[in-house]
Amino acid sequence: MRVTWTGTDLSFRLDPDDEITGKASDDHPVKLATNSCSIGGVPDDAHPDLFALAAWTIVAPWTRRSVTFDRAISAELAAALHDGWGIEAGPVGAEPRGAGRTLAISYSGGADSVAAATVYPQAPFVHFRRVPHRRVPNRWPHYRSDVLAKLAAKTGRELNVVTSDLEFTLAEPRPGYPEHHAVAAGALLMADRLDLGGLGFGYELGSRWLGGGRYLWRYTPDNVMWSPHGRWGRLFAAAGVHLVLPVGGVSEAVTMRLATRSDLKDHVRWCLRGTDGPCRLCGKCLYKELIQAAVERRPLDTPITADRPVARKWLRKPPYGGQEMIEYGLARVPGIDKTLFAGALDYFEVSEESTSWLEHCYPKAIEEIPAQWRDEAAAFMAANVGFMTEEEVRRVETWGS
Ligand SMILES: [Zn+2]
Repeated sequence: MRVTWTGTDLSFRLDPDDEITGKASDDHPVKLATNSCSIGGVPDDAHPDLFALAAWTIVAPWTRRSVTFDRAISAELAAALHDGWGIEAGPVGAEPRGAGRTLAISYSGGADSVAAATVYPQAPFVHFRRVPHRRVPNRWPHYRSDVLAKLAAKTGRELNVVTSDLEFTLAEPRPGYPEHHAVAAGALLMADRLDLGGLGFGYELGSRWLGGGRYLWRYTPDNVMWSPHGRWGRLFAAAGVHLVLPVGGVSEAVTMRLATRSDLKDHVRWCLRGTDGPCRLCGKCLYKELIQAAVERRPLDTPITADRPVARKWLRKPPYGGQEMIEYGLARVPGIDKTLFAGALDYFEVSEESTSWLEHCYPKAIEEIPAQWRDEAAAFMAANVGFMTEEEVRRVETWGS
């Protein structure tokens, strides 16, 4: 793989042993659409390791043996690429970038992201906004990135909006981040300007500890994408930007509660369809409605019926993506046996007691936050959530077994 930046425009050329259909870190196959993209709203003078890491979040799935950058990187970054991926990276010759003092939040406006923001009320936001690609037709106009950017602007936080068409480098399964970490590409190029030492993401307990983005349904202390000692965590640290998961210890029930009761509550939006509010008709809206109904202890309010395609996966046998939250909802939503989730009740033995671990914070998630930001998160969780008991910790660590 050969990577070239022209200003903040990225182009890359595959080597003969690279592949058009690669695999992201979550093992999902991704097919290349085009070999260029650009990032807007960012300076063009970042440390070379930041340029290299930003590019790597985009080209990693298609790279087999080596990556050649257009400017020298540090030996530390090259070593992290080699240790993590078995990739030869160079040329080597830059001084490493030391970690800065600031923690920023990678802010999407979804409930998890808003919850992460409430943990650090002083943290600036970096918001990634999708823009069309100059050569790839946009067949997904319902994705309203403009709405999300407007909501982010109303939060009152220091906001840095980066624009990019990098999601259109993916042909299949659809436009999206080649690696989940590509959402950080713009934030990385801003890292020197913002004096960043850490970047906070809204990944919660399920994503970090219970199986990752695609559902593995097992305890994952060594999560390859989000653990600090995983290959991505070490690579980001080598570039002086630690991965931080402020809500990595709490479930989506807790992030929903924190977000909808925070002073950012009017700006929360997890659905990317619709302009005036969530569409209420997509799979994500249904899943979030189940969680919200459980948190608010009210009946399910959805126009979706069991015969709709988006409801189909709940009529099958588990495991489901986000299964811990399905169990939580089944145990707590009044009248759930008269909804489209009724069939799922047959597969679980759930009660409020058996799902109470999903209301507290898993302590190891706080312990892995870098020291300079740990106490603030710990104090927040103690005051607003509470920590898991030993028995509840055991529920996390035996998940799926
Ligand atoms: Zn929706």
